[in-house]
Amino acid sequence: MRIKHIETFILSDQLSESFFFSQWSYSERQICIVKITTDNGLSGWGEGYGPAPIIEAGIKQLTPILLGQNALEQEKLWFDMYRKTLDFARRGVLVASISALDIALWDLKGKAFGQPVSVLLGGQQRKRIMPYATGLYFSKSDKLASDLAVEAASYVKQGFKAIKMKVGLSIEIDVENIKTVRAMIGKHIKLMVDANHAYSLREAAELSRLIEPYDISWFEEPVSPEFYDQYRQLRSKTSIPIAGGECEYLRFGHHQLLKNESVDILQIDICSAGGLTEAKRVAALASTYGVEIVPHTWGTGIAFHAAMHFIANLEAIPGRLMSPEFYIEYDRTENGIREVLTTPKIEMREGYLKVPTGPGLGIEVNEEAIHQFRKS
Ligand SMILES: [Mg+2]
Repeated sequence: MRIKHIETFILSDQLSESFFFSQWSYSERQICIVKITTDNGLSGWGEGYGPAPIIEAGIKQLTPILLGQNALEQEKLWFDMYRKTLDFARRGVLVASISALDIALWDLKGKAFGQPVSVLLGGQQRKRIMPYATGLYFSKSDKLASDLAVEAASYVKQGFKAIKMKVGLSIEIDVENIKTVRAMIGKHIKLMVDANHAYSLREAAELSRLIEPYDISWFEEPVSPEFYDQYRQLRSKTSIPIAGGECEYLRFGHHQLLKNESVDILQIDICSAGGLTEAKRVAALASTYGVEIVPHTWGTGIAFHAAMHFIANLEAIPGRLMSPEFYIEYDRTENGIREVLTTPKIEMREGYLKVPTGPGLGIEVNEEAIHQFRKS
């Protein structure tokens, strides 16, 4: 089963209303996806997380390494791509290009064997996953706190049992927003906060102290991702679990977070940190530190399904009869591409998603939608 074609697609969609978080605002969604076709006519899909034109350029750079190779040998191909690029791109967006190609190879392998990716990763440890709603971004509204509370209530109504909101505007505004949202959703819904590394250690510690009464399940990226030691220090100052990792690459980057005791929850992004092949290694590494993984997930149904298969395969550590909940990040902000690119549609039942059972990633990609959103 030799690799015959590799095609990239940049898809973009203008948002009806821009939204922002602590770092910048979004006015469009743009994504790079990749299709690998083999000489027996099978095709697999992958997606990269990061600036789409750069991911596309990276995939074009990597393509000659893969063409003509046996698509089933994805670990060997991963290493070939890594070895031939590490001199100039050990970290960063070229790893997202490797990630997209790696996910497409797993999709292909699943289709070739007629098995879901989660089974090929080693087996489905669970049949259902709990999605948490990612939303509650900022707007220029003069009644931001109450707008956020209304949005949070809509997620509860849809059946979500966990919700993540943005923080990082200012400590005062954050506390007001959290207080209003918590009052609206009641005490039984899990609530997480994400600063996207907006704060200094002093500020993050102060915010943690002020929001502890609101039962926060984790504080994500409180400080800058380079400051591994500050993450550790913050953990010693607060009872709120600390999460991070979406800006790390490869097992080497995630190892920094683990060995520095920086996080309670590790948030690898499969579409940027090295694909499913590397995510599986990071999971093994995290298990040696007893650290839980809840991947960062953003983008289309391709990225989301890759994460579902990965999470389905994660070991519960410690093992016990009544397994803890396994979460998946489910972005609920506007994304016209995500809505139509893949089938079947993601359906939540009683607050859970079923682990996909179809071959490969378990999705069909709608090529008409590609035509509709294609930029290059
Ligand atoms: Mg985040």
